[in-house]
Amino acid sequence: MKLYEQTCKNLLVKSKLPGADWVINPYVGCTHRCQYCYAIFMRRFYQYEEKWGDFLAVKSGPLRGVDKVRDNQVVLIGSVTDAYQPIEKQTRCTRMILQQLADCRGTVEILTKSKLILRDMELLQQFSKIRVGISLNTLDDSFRRTMEPGASTVEERLQTLRTLKENGIETYLFVSPIFPEITNLQEIVEATRKWVDTYYFENLNLRGDYKEKILEYIQEAFPEYQGIYQQIYRENSMVYWENCKHKIENLAVLYNVRAKEYFYHSKIRKQ
Ligand code: SF4
Repeated sequence: MKLYEQTCKNLLVKSKLPGADWVINPYVGCTHRCQYCYAIFMRRFYQYEEKWGDFLAVKSGPLRGVDKVRDNQVVLIGSVTDAYQPIEKQTRCTRMILQQLADCRGTVEILTKSKLILRDMELLQQFSKIRVGISLNTLDDSFRRTMEPGASTVEERLQTLRTLKENGIETYLFVSPIFPEITNLQEIVEATRKWVDTYYFENLNLRGDYKEKILEYIQEAFPEYQGIYQQIYRENSMVYWENCKHKIENLAVLYNVRAKEYFYHSKIRKQ
């Protein structure tokens, strides 16, 4: 893996993302190597020659304007790539950012697939308003290994959620991306609800280079689901997601949990 350094004028960037007013991304690139990686589009904004997953740029620079963050605003760390990739053990970039955010009046939010966040527990606890999200779309670690080979295991993520919650951190579970028929929503909610304050659900969007790769994988590994994937991703049928939406509503009632879904990304983006 090729490592670069990237100096930035300001690591704190204004955001138009729903749910985030400011974002901080300590790295360019991501070594979790998720097969469905949405962030791969970032590749074209940078000059690095290696393909996505084979390079990493470690950012450095000041956090200017932390005093401008209002108390009703959210600062999201890791909006594009994971702030707790394995390299963070050595670089401690994210850790330094958390230290510099100590006086932030807004809510600090981190979304990760890594148990490494637990290293910074004492820093997380210094914030009066903090939320940590863990992404998880399966309890089957062999599927996780295929889809997210560089990220923490299922068991590690469950333990991370539990430890965060037991240490007083507000948590959310980002059930994403939902793989039709493979992601078992009920099983995930049942296994995690003791440690999760809010659930967010997002459907699998297939675009660009990885669309064919994922569909080929389904054909080989899950031929029984090929028909449903064809309907969704070749014929653009929304029926599966409509049903999934109802299922989530029912699960929220059944388990008495807060749940929100982010389906139909492309439509949302157009709006
Ligand atoms: S964690 Fe996110 S950015 Fe990193 S490879 Fe996976 S999907 Fe891409």
